[in-house]
Amino acid sequence: MNKKMMTMMVALATASLAYAAEAPVTDAMLAGAAGNTHEVLSFGMGSEGQRFSPLTQINTKTVAKLVPAWSMSFGGEKQRGQESQPLIHNGKMFITASYSRIYAVDLKTGTKLWKYEHRLPEGIMPCCDVVNRGAALYGNLVIFGTLDAQLVALDQNTGEVVWKEKVGDYAAGYSMTAAPLIAKGLLLTGVSGGEFGIVGRVDARDPMTGQLVWSRPTVEGHMGTRYDKDGKASDNGISGTVNKTWPGELWKTGGASTWMGGTYDASTGLAYFGTGNPAPWNSHLRPGDNLFSSSTVAIDVSTGTIKWAYQNTPNDAWDFDGANEFVTFDMDGKRYGGKADRNGFFYVIDAKSGKLHNAFPFVRKITWASGIDLKTGRPNFIAANRPGDPTKGADNTKGSTVFSAPAFLGAKNQMPMAYNPGTKLFYVPANEWGMDIWNEPISYKKGGAYLGAGFTIRPIFDDYIGALRAIDPKTGKIVWEVKNNAPLWGGVMSTAGGLVFYGTPEGYLKALDAKSGKELWKFQTGSGVVAPPVTWQDGDTQYVAVVSGWGGAVPLWGGEVAKKINLLEQGGSVWVFKLTK
Ligand code: CA
Repeated sequence: MNKKMMTMMVALATASLAYAAEAPVTDAMLAGAAGNTHEVLSFGMGSEGQRFSPLTQINTKTVAKLVPAWSMSFGGEKQRGQESQPLIHNGKMFITASYSRIYAVDLKTGTKLWKYEHRLPEGIMPCCDVVNRGAALYGNLVIFGTLDAQLVALDQNTGEVVWKEKVGDYAAGYSMTAAPLIAKGLLLTGVSGGEFGIVGRVDARDPMTGQLVWSRPTVEGHMGTRYDKDGKASDNGISGTVNKTWPGELWKTGGASTWMGGTYDASTGLAYFGTGNPAPWNSHLRPGDNLFSSSTVAIDVSTGTIKWAYQNTPNDAWDFDGANEFVTFDMDGKRYGGKADRNGFFYVIDAKSGKLHNAFPFVRKITWASGIDLKTGRPNFIAANRPGDPTKGADNTKGSTVFSAPAFLGAKNQMPMAYNPGTKLFYVPANEWGMDIWNEPISYKKGGAYLGAGFTIRPIFDDYIGALRAIDPKTGKIVWEVKNNAPLWGGVMSTAGGLVFYGTPEGYLKALDAKSGKELWKFQTGSGVVAPPVTWQDGDTQYVAVVSGWGGAVPLWGGEVAKKINLLEQGGSVWVFKLTK
């Protein structure tokens, strides 16, 4: 080896060491997160949320040799649902867990480096289990939201709390379960609590200090706010027009919670947040479209204004939260967003303008609408299948009961889908179920459930509820499907190795052929998987990780579905896999 080459190699080695030792997460790193194969820097494996990895070492031919590398238990007596996506950075894995916990783990050995257990007050009100879906990385910080509606930023190396901010009043039903999103150097977060009449919004903060930059409510009629460097608030324009789509005072407790967080596309400069149901569930109390509930809201990150909004379910009567992720992708030379909505339709929307391009069912049974009118963008409602008005019932206490499909737990819920730019398919964890639903009178009371509805969830088919479906966004066709006995509740990941990974409540992490859906590998993790997998490469080895721990909304709201899931056990651990030699 000549001297020049030697010098170059030493310089290279030094550069990579320096990178590993400091490695603050920068805007440039986050902008390139989707293509970064040696780290997982954000929820969604890139802010666009495609959950696609270009890695190919684990592929259709080698995946049969995938074996555990290590596993780590979250410990503790309290377990419940583990819906968290791990982040990988600087030799560490960062994982959130139930009850607002977060861990840093040595990536090579699985050794716990530090943990933080947030002190939760009595009286928190998470609607749908004590879950957390993940954290965000920025600078030297790892940041996550808690069940008492706080944001906590910790030092990645020590686990020490650097800043903490209250986001909402937990006694009024506010909580946080989604992973924060970083876009254009801002920390963007939503809020949970649509079942308690909170007011949904998106906040932007300085990720290093927690200081607010702007706040954008997602219920029409509320005022947006901007904050200067000293924290002084000023008017940032109203969201929509007061009383245009909401009668009387109802907009003041209108729901539309942004509980799933959002995605961001650098090519449009827009952050896309889904919004939950309008409150209360009883739609007869709030005639009108009730903007911006059950919608995708596209927010200009620079200004905090709503650039466009598309409402999936106007005047929602079924708890069809439009909270699902809006995943941007290229099709025919244009940038679109795909969204598998809780209401049973898959939407393809122009990511820049918000114009509806296509909408088609991705489940077999939909009772509330016969289709989506592509000209007007509005659903063709089937009026007879809306739960009846209680004031028109026999004794003014209960409206007529209807059978509705999907059930309120949705054709798809919190489990994120994946998009593979190679196969050009979306991989959607769907569920086929329905519900008997009826309306009752209700009035708002702080901290009380604000539904005005009762329900019983029922399976539709004998042999399955869940179905992982490969969906062609161009044709609206289901290319293949793999049925699952229990409802699917974990997320999906696809890779350039021709694979689709997803977990099942029965405890398996599975790998399928992305083209055919053929099952190529599975592993029993010991508890139900309700979280999305990730992959990265360390040195010359590709790894796959997933969190295991059964829970979430399904066991809480079981109805007749509970019969399918009564043998599933709780847990709390992370599993890491690699190929055996
Ligand atoms: Ca809801």
